[in-house]
Amino acid sequence: MTRQSLAGQLSRCSINTATLGHRQPLETIIEQVASSGFGWIAPWRRELEGRDPLKVARHIRDAGLRVSSYCRSTYIPAHDARTFAANLDDNRRAIEQAAQLEAQCFVMVVGGLPEGSRDLPGAREQVREGLASLLEHARQVGVPLALEPLHPMYAADRSCLSTLSQALDLCERLEPGESRYLGVAVDAYHCWWDPLLQQQIARAGEQRRLLGLHVCDWLVPTHDLLLDRGMMGDGVIDLTGLRHAMEDAGYCGPVEVEIFSRDNWWQRDPMDVLRTCAERLQNNC
Ligand code: ZN
Repeated sequence: MTRQSLAGQLSRCSINTATLGHRQPLETIIEQVASSGFGWIAPWRRELEGRDPLKVARHIRDAGLRVSSYCRSTYIPAHDARTFAANLDDNRRAIEQAAQLEAQCFVMVVGGLPEGSRDLPGAREQVREGLASLLEHARQVGVPLALEPLHPMYAADRSCLSTLSQALDLCERLEPGESRYLGVAVDAYHCWWDPLLQQQIARAGEQRRLLGLHVCDWLVPTHDLLLDRGMMGDGVIDLTGLRHAMEDAGYCGPVEVEIFSRDNWWQRDPMDVLRTCAERLQNNC
């Protein structure tokens, strides 16, 4: 396969709106992302609160953008059946919004341990059961679910799904054979350290389960495990190698920038951040 850089290919690149720190209304962000030359955007649910998703969808289309992913699920595991059911209902509503936005996928960050629990296998079982139900809904409205494994340091509070192989095992169990509505999002920040990364990307590709590629960088040292993600090129991840592995496995979707950076990038002018993202995508990814 020929190896192209992303130079001149911003139309293939997406901005996850978290990268700009959720400081402005979505309407402003849509205009900024579009005028910076990107082809895609990935909004968060909180940005749609009080808005008509169909109107937002039209604004995004009119700006010349498409929705790479819609972020993200309500955590699934709960300590009682009622909360579990409420969590699933919440996710069903979000999946419907994803369909209205014509998102390529709905990002599933599945949740960790319910408060006070030490039962990690139990949390994983709840995730399996919850996903089986949500998958039916996703099929009905026509939006694929992208399971996003998170770095194991978040197993307690954000995701008991920690590796690509674990996510793919779950996909195979819930939707055997060739994937239609269940796949994975590969986030560089969460997966870069995994010794099985290349192998599992290839496995996901064979099953057509590669639904998203999220990029940022791992800073050394990292000062905050959630909110100190680096700009591409400022850390230690081989982002070009990761993108090539994805493309060799058949992925041709958008490359989405997702940077949580409270003390650095979220303090800067959004247009400067977007300019830097554009430059780094083309030179460091
Ligand atoms: Zn991500």
